[in-house]
Amino acid sequence: MQNASMEEQWLSSHFSGGNQTYLDEMYEAYLADPNSVPEQWRSVFDKLPSINEEVTTDTPHKPVRDHYLLMGKTAKVSADTLAPSIVTDHERKQVRVHQLATAYRFRGHQRAALDPLNLEPRKPVPDLDLKYHGLTEADMDTVFQCANLYIGKKEAPLKEIVAALNETYCSSVGAEFTHIVNTAERRWIEQRMESVRSKPDYSADARKHILERLAAAEGMEKYLGSKYPGTKRFGLEGGESLIPLMDELIQRSGSYGAKEIVIGMAHRGRLNMLVNILGKNPAELFEEFEGKSFLDSGSGDVKYHQGFSSNVMTSGGELHLALAFNPSHLEIASPVVEGSVRARQDRRKDSQGDLVVPVSIHGDAAFAGQGVVMETFQMSQTRAYGTGGTVHIIINNQVGFTTSRQDDARSTEYCTDIAKMVQAPIFHVNGDDPEAVVFVTQLAADYRQQFKRDVVIDLVCYRRRGHNEADEPAMTQPMMYQTIRKHKTTFELYCNSLEEQGFLSRADIKQITDDYRAALESGEHVAKSLVKEPNKELFVDWTPYLNQPVVDDHDTSSDLKALQELAIEINTPPESFPMQRQVNKIIEDRIKMAKGALPLNWGFAETLAYATLIQQGHPVRITGQDVGRGTFVHRHAVWHNQKDGSTLVPLANLSPDQPRFDIYDSFLSEEAVLAFEYGYATTMPNALVVWEAQFGDFANGAQVVIDQFITSGEHKWGRLCGLVMLLPHGYEGQGPEHSSARLERYLQLCAEQNIQVIAPTTPAQVYHMLRRQAMRNLRKPLVVMSPKSLLRHKDAVSTLEELANGRFETVIGETNSDIDPLNVERVVLCSGKVYYDLLDKRVKEEANNVAIVRIEQLYPFPEDRLFEVLRPFKNLKDVVWCQEEPMNQGAWYSSQHHMRRVLHSVGENLYLRYAGRDASASPAAGYMSLHLEQLEKFLNDAILNIQ
Ligand code: AMP
Repeated sequence: MQNASMEEQWLSSHFSGGNQTYLDEMYEAYLADPNSVPEQWRSVFDKLPSINEEVTTDTPHKPVRDHYLLMGKTAKVSADTLAPSIVTDHERKQVRVHQLATAYRFRGHQRAALDPLNLEPRKPVPDLDLKYHGLTEADMDTVFQCANLYIGKKEAPLKEIVAALNETYCSSVGAEFTHIVNTAERRWIEQRMESVRSKPDYSADARKHILERLAAAEGMEKYLGSKYPGTKRFGLEGGESLIPLMDELIQRSGSYGAKEIVIGMAHRGRLNMLVNILGKNPAELFEEFEGKSFLDSGSGDVKYHQGFSSNVMTSGGELHLALAFNPSHLEIASPVVEGSVRARQDRRKDSQGDLVVPVSIHGDAAFAGQGVVMETFQMSQTRAYGTGGTVHIIINNQVGFTTSRQDDARSTEYCTDIAKMVQAPIFHVNGDDPEAVVFVTQLAADYRQQFKRDVVIDLVCYRRRGHNEADEPAMTQPMMYQTIRKHKTTFELYCNSLEEQGFLSRADIKQITDDYRAALESGEHVAKSLVKEPNKELFVDWTPYLNQPVVDDHDTSSDLKALQELAIEINTPPESFPMQRQVNKIIEDRIKMAKGALPLNWGFAETLAYATLIQQGHPVRITGQDVGRGTFVHRHAVWHNQKDGSTLVPLANLSPDQPRFDIYDSFLSEEAVLAFEYGYATTMPNALVVWEAQFGDFANGAQVVIDQFITSGEHKWGRLCGLVMLLPHGYEGQGPEHSSARLERYLQLCAEQNIQVIAPTTPAQVYHMLRRQAMRNLRKPLVVMSPKSLLRHKDAVSTLEELANGRFETVIGETNSDIDPLNVERVVLCSGKVYYDLLDKRVKEEANNVAIVRIEQLYPFPEDRLFEVLRPFKNLKDVVWCQEEPMNQGAWYSSQHHMRRVLHSVGENLYLRYAGRDASASPAAGYMSLHLEQLEKFLNDAILNIQ
């Protein structure tokens, strides 16, 4: 009895919180091989299976403490159920040895030699001391069981165990993975690292290959430095190991069958990557240094922002590489890459992410600083945005421009800590140990392949020069640069190491560097795996979409009967599908609309536009906040079974061989999500890709994407994009935040026919607008001021005939046939929802001498069409532009010159007047009473000319 209570006490102390991980690991080791754990534990674990069935319904590897707690509750651990045993001093120490090993897995990275410059001495890590675990030097020769350590032995003297742990976890590789809750993943990493002690024995050929890649990395920078001294190139010097890293990552992914890799990276090291990895012709790069332009049209971009595509050969076959174009805004390229990858995966029906791999290369400062990094991680396992795991690489040169103090740069230990939020394993590695770099690259590639989750390589290196080549770094980092100046290059250090080990002679090394330089000088390709005659089937042919004229008119009509049938089909739920009451009513109404018994509303027309495009072979993808139902309850593209919660997407079930229809409610991000959809749309030309903001002003959070990609990408980089942004907009008294989609911002960005800006006012208009966007081969981003109250407005309706036979109208003239054009003295020009307010006002005031004209497309501004619409008003005296936005917002400032130009042609004396809210700092009034007062005032001004 006394023994039993001792055992209970012993168990309780070992089951306490601090030992949980150790116990879990011990239990897992026991499950794998009962003989791998100490006798005492085996006898305890042997008692557990009787309750296993109760506790392991979800996971067979339920943490052992749970078993214990449950056992405490249900089976009550009693002394009698435990075999009595004597705890010897050796057994006690055995437990401590396990605790020590666990501590290495947790904390080894804190002692690892990660910094090539060794600038900051690493702080002592008490958990890694023998003393901390109650062990001493005197125990070093004692033999202990190695239990779940993967060191190739069942038992070994403590000194051997400690040596193995030090080599594995405290050498040039520091691994953080114990934050991963999935046991299989943790065990996998332990096994991979411990079995080779983080230092595989690479063959002579493999070592020579690594050296050649380093020679290329260094040779390239030296060459550019001597040929173009002082020219900005954001060189890789100090981080040359990136090149063997990327080479290995590509080859390894190729060996697994990947067919495409999309890479995003900032400017540092980009030119080196372009030439040495993607195989850009050095001669072309040199011409760019000399100022030559390679774009047929557009305004171009600096060379270290340029993207590139090529095919390389791997052991798994030919692989297409695409380096994404990127702006100076750090980190924003990452979600664009994810979108591009997802589009390629969707195209290849690669739902697991086996065939297309995303690789994101980051700088340390930006990775720690930029919020979009978090947003991109948040996407990684979602239905809408997952890509089967991304390999992240940090070029950690320990300084961001001139900022290197940790307490300025971040509040976390490592710049990579954000990655823990998705439980990504993080492999810190010393960039001056290229073999360790290649090892962690293999680990990362294999981990992604195995678990389809994000993984991070933190390449700890340095920056040999300033932020750019003209910058003097010693101004702000004097001590760091004293060290750097004395520090041998990675290539030099590796040469020395290989020479010392007898793998290569100095003559061999000289040959390697001479060959590389000769190839560069002759302008030859220097990426050996480059495929000179690439297989074009690996990527999409954009030729049909290039150089398309911007023509507004496009035939988007279709057969009325077929349209009617389709409308009925997509609005008929299966009998066994109980719908929610209000949704059922909406769907029933849609059937009536299809049969001509009700006028058509917005939701009907919009969903039907998608259905027709799918029938015509265009994939459709819609994401955004609450898009399935629609923020304002109009879309209902996803039906929810009221009995079992299952969902049905009618548009995804039109026919077995239809193109994809994807609709996903997004997580609450705008920046990363919009960037993702931009990436998707620039990779899938035949698809209609739609992003909808919950309220239009939410797109404020994605301004970088709008400025740097959507409105300028074609002109900077020649990349076409047909993305649609639906931005709910309209002044309905909801206050400053939810009224305006900031139309003025988009219009201010319009130039050179870069985007289209539309404010459709009828269901037929939205129908034809969406169809035109996909059916024309023109690929231009489309920014839509989409409605809120108009979704249910009694007058904002259309007929089936207008859908079947109509087309998108850039300008809608006066539609009331009772208004005689010759009696019209005033025309009110407007755009968007205010049209219906003006209409009401005109009816109320019986102002039949006023015509109301809607400019539905604000950019490209339809001057010719407006002229045609105004021409019949022969007695026109007054023209007013009426908008609901304040004067400094909306379309007034950006569009008045277009209208004035037209008016000048219509009548010499016509002047354009403004009727709208006064200029305002805030987008809209916060009080309904003030909103209505302002509305009344400007409607009077517009219709009656009373201020
Ligand atoms: P990628 O698969 O991204 O490497 O693209 C392969 C080729 O397709 C590129 O080299 C371009 O010629 C063309 N291309 C890709 N995306 C676009 C785009 N958005 N607009 C125009 N051409 C593109």
